[in-house]
Amino acid sequence: MSPLAQLPVPRAALGEAPCWNPAEGALYWTDIPAHQVHRLAADGTHTAWDTGQPVGAIAPRAGGGLALAAKDGFWALDPAGSQLTLLARVEADVPGNRMNDGACDRAGRFFAGTMAEDESPGAGALYRLGPDHAVTRVLGGVGISNGIGWSLDESRMYYVDSLTHRVDVFDYDPASGAIGNRRVFAAAGGGAVVPDGLAVDADGCVWVALWGGGALVRYRPDGRLAQTLQIPAAHVTSCAFGGTDLATLYITTAAGPGAGGGALFSGRPGATGLPANPFRG
Ligand code: CA
Repeated sequence: MSPLAQLPVPRAALGEAPCWNPAEGALYWTDIPAHQVHRLAADGTHTAWDTGQPVGAIAPRAGGGLALAAKDGFWALDPAGSQLTLLARVEADVPGNRMNDGACDRAGRFFAGTMAEDESPGAGALYRLGPDHAVTRVLGGVGISNGIGWSLDESRMYYVDSLTHRVDVFDYDPASGAIGNRRVFAAAGGGAVVPDGLAVDADGCVWVALWGGGALVRYRPDGRLAQTLQIPAAHVTSCAFGGTDLATLYITTAAGPGAGGGALFSGRPGATGLPANPFRG
């Protein structure tokens, strides 16, 4: 692992949802309570947009621009970053909830879940946005819907409900986007330390951010712990591989204990990532 670098961008209150857009050679992430989407280009140019609502997840859009999971639905941000367009409402009738983390499968379906702002157990759900913009509720009774990713063959989907202190796994049908047979993949954290976002690397290993734990943990495909990467911020929220060789790991954090609270970090852990799947709608 190369030493971690703290990138020269503003510290976030709650940095989240790092997403490398290979078409642009740029990293995107959010600051959820600040209602901002940030972009760091390869030439070091930093840009931030006011989205007017909390954004919990970001995916590149196949036609350009971004797809976002935000306060009350899925939205598109145009390539100029100037305009939000509604794709589909989600839980617009539940004012205490907002959308949180998410990711797209290879077919371009955007999975993202919800959570209660007051973190009420069971108040959230997981949704699937199809390329036709139809929304399907695929799981209920969720506490804090967080990291999502797939095994290399897409036969399994990894999923974090932070309140469970687990990374779970579902059988996944890439033809239909259906999930089933939920079971435990790995226990993660405990007490105030909870699993948050995740990224699957090219070896099929699963990197999980530990909120409150000041670390990323890497699990082998069989669920065994392979590596722990210490981060100088207690609240590590998520990670994503990027750079032209997909070998740079970008790590988001939130304000809190630790010298680097709220900072964006990068390092080269020796693993290589996979390009983020775009939303194909
Ligand atoms: Ca999160």
